[in-house]
Amino acid sequence: MHYFDYKGGAKKRLYAEGVSVKRIAKEVGTPVFIYSHKTLTRHFNAFDTAFADAPHLICFSVKANSNLAVLKTFSTLGGGFDIVSGGELFRVVKAGGDMKKVVFSGVGKTEEEIEFAIKKRILMFNVESPQELRLINKVAKRLKKRAGIAIRINPDVDPKTHPYISTGLKKNKFGIERKEALREYAYARKNLANLDLLGVDCHIGSQLTSIKPFIDALKKVKTFVGDLRAQGIDPGYINMGGGLGITYEDETAPHPSKYGEAVIKETKDLGVTLIFEPGRNIVGNAGILATRVTYTKKGSVKNFIIADAGMNDLPRPSLYGSYHGIEPVVKERRGTVTADIVGPICETGDFIARDRKIKKVNPGELLAVMSAGAYCYTMSSNYNSRPRAAEVMVKGKDYYVVKKREKPADLIEGEVMPNALFKKSKKR
Ligand SMILES: *Cc1c(COP(=O)(O)O)cnc(C)c1O
Repeated sequence: MHYFDYKGGAKKRLYAEGVSVKRIAKEVGTPVFIYSHKTLTRHFNAFDTAFADAPHLICFSVKANSNLAVLKTFSTLGGGFDIVSGGELFRVVKAGGDMKKVVFSGVGKTEEEIEFAIKKRILMFNVESPQELRLINKVAKRLKKRAGIAIRINPDVDPKTHPYISTGLKKNKFGIERKEALREYAYARKNLANLDLLGVDCHIGSQLTSIKPFIDALKKVKTFVGDLRAQGIDPGYINMGGGLGITYEDETAPHPSKYGEAVIKETKDLGVTLIFEPGRNIVGNAGILATRVTYTKKGSVKNFIIADAGMNDLPRPSLYGSYHGIEPVVKERRGTVTADIVGPICETGDFIARDRKIKKVNPGELLAVMSAGAYCYTMSSNYNSRPRAAEVMVKGKDYYVVKKREKPADLIEGEVMPNALFKKSKKR
C-alpha cells in the first residue's frame, strides 16, 4: 500500500498524498524523486508491529535510501539503522540516529571505519571474517573501549532471487561458514578480551517473495545458537538481516505480519532480542521518480520514448534487468504504444523499461517511474556529467525539497588542474 494515487475527472492526475506530481515537477524540475512521508511511516510501523509480541529492533538498511530526511523519519519512529560504511554512519549521526541502535554490516570495513564506529559506541558489528574479528578487537583495545559483535554466519540457503542479490549461499562472499564461526566465537571468548559477543547474524538476500528461505535460515541459526550455548556462550540477539521483497510488477510479497508470525513462532522460547534490517520493504514503494519526455522516436524495429532520466538516475533496470511500473502523470484517453523508455546516456544499456506497452506520450509530458524509493537515488551517479536529481518529501498537502538538484559546479567539486602539469617542459 502506498499513497500515490490518481485524482480528478476525465484528466486524472497522479498525486503524492495531497500534492500533484505535475506541480512538483513544474516547481522543482525533472527528474525528481518524490517520497511519501505517510507511506514511509506506514511501512515502518507495519514492520515494527509485526514483531510487537517479541523483543525486537528494526534497523533500517541505510543503503536502500540514505537521504537524511528519510533517516530522520525512521529514527523519530524509534528505528535504528544498519550501515555498511563509515559514510553511512556519518549520515546516521547527522540525522540524529540513536547510536545504541546501529549495527554495522559489510565484508570490507576498514580500520578507520571500525575506529569511527567504536568511538560512536554503536550497538554492534556484524562481522564477516576472522581477520575482521581480530581487527575490531585490536582497535577497541587501542581505544580502551569495548565493541559489541555478532558473527554473520552463512546459512547456505537459496533465497531464489536475482543472483546479484543472493547473499546466503556457500559460494557468496558474505558471512562465515558455520563450523568455522563456532570456532571463532570460542577463540574470541578466550583471546579477544575487548569484544562483547552479543549476537548471531545472517542476511540471505534481497527481494525475497517467500517466507520459507527466511525460516530455513532461522532454523539453522537456532541450531547454531544451541551449539554456542553448549559452549557457554549466550548471544542475546539474533539478527535476521533484511530482504523481504515488494511488488514491482506482479510478484506477491508476503506482508510483514506473516513474516512476523512465522519468526515469532520459531523464536518465542529462545529468549533473544530479534534484529531486522529491512530496506526495500519499507522504502521501495514509498517513492517514485518523475521524468519528462524529451523526444519520441520511431526506429525501424522499435519505438523509443526518450526521457530526461537515465541509468545514472535509476540504475536498477540496467544493472539487474529490473522491472519498474511506468505511469503517465496525467491520464488521458489515448491509444497505447509498445516502446523502450530510455534515457539520454550514451550506452545501449541505458533504459528504464524495454518493450513496454504504455499509453502514448508526447514530448514535454511527464511519466512516473513507480517503486523508486529503494536502491535508486543511492545508486545514482554523475555518469555523462549529469547533475543528480532532486529529492522531495511530501507530507499531506505540503512538499519539501530534501535534496537540492545538483548544479554543474557540483560536478567538478574537488577537481584541480595543477599548473605544474601544464608547464611547457624546458628544453635541455
Ligand atoms: C542490503 C542489506 C540489507 C537490506 O536488504 P533489503 O532487501 O533492502 O531489505 C540488510 N542487511 C544487509 C547486511 C544488507 O546488505
